[in-house]
Amino acid sequence: MVHPRVLRAMASPLIGHLDPRFLELMDIIQEQLRWLFHTRNAFTIAVSGTGSAGMETVIANLVEPGDSIIVGVNGVFGERIATMIQRCGGQPIRIDAPWGSPIALEHIEYHLTHGAPIKALAIVHAETSTGVLQPLAELGRLCRAHDALFIVDAVTSLGGIPLDVDAWHIDACYSATQKCLSCPPGLAPLTLSDRALAAIRSRTTPCHSWYLDCLLVADYWADSKRTYHHTAPISMLYALCEALCLIQEEGLEARFARHRRHSMALLAGLETLGFHPLPPTDYRLPSLTCVQLPPNLDEQRIRQQLLEEYGIEIGAGLGPLSGKVWRIGLMGESSRIEYVFTLLLALEEVLSQAGVKYRPGEAILAAAQGYQRLIATDYLRDSENLQTGI
Ligand SMILES: *Cc1c(COP(=O)(O)O)cnc(C)c1O
Repeated sequence: MVHPRVLRAMASPLIGHLDPRFLELMDIIQEQLRWLFHTRNAFTIAVSGTGSAGMETVIANLVEPGDSIIVGVNGVFGERIATMIQRCGGQPIRIDAPWGSPIALEHIEYHLTHGAPIKALAIVHAETSTGVLQPLAELGRLCRAHDALFIVDAVTSLGGIPLDVDAWHIDACYSATQKCLSCPPGLAPLTLSDRALAAIRSRTTPCHSWYLDCLLVADYWADSKRTYHHTAPISMLYALCEALCLIQEEGLEARFARHRRHSMALLAGLETLGFHPLPPTDYRLPSLTCVQLPPNLDEQRIRQQLLEEYGIEIGAGLGPLSGKVWRIGLMGESSRIEYVFTLLLALEEVLSQAGVKYRPGEAILAAAQGYQRLIATDYLRDSENLQTGI
């Protein structure tokens, strides 16, 4: 869901991409993004394009033919990074883990220490195809110790869970507007460290993509230059600025707590209906709940019914998880109590029609008790959380 203020911002009158007022807006967005990414990186921009354009910008600029890049593959998006590395002539050194598990630090450390020199490690912070949260802080230290660049896909994490680009030594980090930022799809926030920029400047071949060439794009975003490169998607940048204002007004801690609260209550309800989480306890994303399905469920029909009768869209399992899991996003504006209860009520109804046995009301009760447990603990004592909360 997108906040009405963001929709309104998109309907604002257009100005030119070199209009001084628009350049001012770009400055504001850069400052907002630095705040959100927790970084002082000068190169912090919004790439024109969706999250995959952010991914492609990082890979196309940092990978030169022959470069060895370690890539964690435990879902769709790690796989996509590996494909892009290959297309740029790089050598992806895959570290595979089962879909639903994080990538083990020891395996990464092994490849950093043995074999060919490694230019970078690329990893997905929040794997949207499996609901797995990948811990990053240790990996950043490891990359620094081995003089490898650290590339992070933060598409489903930025604005939903803590992310600290500078403290975790991340050199290249991209996201997308339409996940936890609650903005329509169309831009990819991106930040590059000075180390990453130095690696790009010392390329022996120019980046094969002209549109995504960071050095050219930088001349448009740098306030000393403002050289036309390509026309900025003006209305999308209005929307992003407003979405980021909303995040600043809520505050990051309150926002993260809200995401945790509602995913916890949702999961409590789902478990009573026989849907159990795929990732292990400490590796679950609050922004995306991935649950295994009870046996013999006509899951496709149930998802279709939820969409047609209740207007609720559930993500299907992808790749090897097709037909085995559901992916329920509670991101940004959608991380709210009314969505949790509506889904659980709708699910009880639809499952009972499908002949599944369950105790009526139990899922709702479990979710409500989940919220109450939080109120009872110190989770919600903070008045800021209460104001923005349930
Ligand atoms: C959605 C997503 C992408 C791709 O973003 P698009 O906006 O669909 O291009 C990349 N990585 C992750 C982790 C994602 O969830």
